[in-house]
Amino acid sequence: MDAAIKIQFSKLLISWYKENARDLPWRETRDPYLIWVSEIILQQTRIDQGLPYYLKFATVFPTVQDLARADLDYVLSLWQGLGYYSRARNMHKAAKMVVEDFHGAFPATYSELIKLPGVGDYTASAISSIVIQEGNAVVDGNVFRVLARVFDIDTPIDTTLGKRQFKELAQELLDEKHPGKYNQALMDFGSVHCKAKGPLCVSCMFNESCMAYRLNKVDVLPKKQGKQKIRNRYFHYFIIKSKKGLLMYQRHHDDVWQGLFEFPVLETKEELSLEELTQLDAFKACFGDRNPLLLEGNIKHVLSHQRIFANFYILGGEVEPDILEKYQWRYYNSEKIAKLAKHKLIFSFLEKHRLL
Ligand code: SF4
Repeated sequence: MDAAIKIQFSKLLISWYKENARDLPWRETRDPYLIWVSEIILQQTRIDQGLPYYLKFATVFPTVQDLARADLDYVLSLWQGLGYYSRARNMHKAAKMVVEDFHGAFPATYSELIKLPGVGDYTASAISSIVIQEGNAVVDGNVFRVLARVFDIDTPIDTTLGKRQFKELAQELLDEKHPGKYNQALMDFGSVHCKAKGPLCVSCMFNESCMAYRLNKVDVLPKKQGKQKIRNRYFHYFIIKSKKGLLMYQRHHDDVWQGLFEFPVLETKEELSLEELTQLDAFKACFGDRNPLLLEGNIKHVLSHQRIFANFYILGGEVEPDILEKYQWRYYNSEKIAKLAKHKLIFSFLEKHRLL
């Protein structure tokens, strides 16, 4: 790349950042632990949504030792409502690793950060560039968009080739003297100015050099190859009450919402009528010939690659002790339920029916 283009790009970007940098609490620190907390929270989360979670985590776990010492269930309960719970599980695992393998000193170099669970190229580049000015370019959705538009790059961003090409370009453009500031400037610029919808091209400092603007391609860049197929899943939840409370269990298997609590559930591949449901072997094995009553049906919950349709049924009577044992179902009173980490579907149901 022509050195003049590179210098001009970086100069304009950093001058834009001086005027427009957002005032955010993690920008007031150089503590790699707190910056890591913010980066993990902001993966797949908007700043306005993630900010209260960052403040909560920074207050409850001000050091990596505090996070490592905490119970995973407690960490998950603080994460409640943010989604993508594997981030919280990985954070907890990574905190323990830092305490055990790094003697409690949170790493700041790319080569050490990348060893932590839940830390990929983007996060390791962001933290190392911000904290110790290591020259690693970040590439997130905002960076893809700005570079694709300014340099008119058609390669789909969701392909191996695209990822490599954009990473190389970002690395080439990186301002080696101020990599942290440059990375943050590029991401902020993509987020608030060169937005996915309604980019502010008329007032843009790049509009004379931006290829997409000149070629009228702003709306079609960046390109994606294609969407991943979305899977439909049908969850049938059973609300079973006793004097001791409501029956719930913790999801353990390697699936969505691992480690979170929910009601006993049966999953089917298609939508079933009440009659069809009660004829299933799995239903009979757990509940015999009892008759559930549909309380709420067809509640849609969309995750990244799956669409969940949930039905909630009331089911009377006791559940056999061997079934309780087999599936690790336990009764919880409302006080305990309030403290359990629950996914949004269950949390909304409990709130709506005033069961919290
Ligand atoms: Fe983005 Fe428009 Fe600026 Fe080009 S001119 S960088 S498309 S805001």
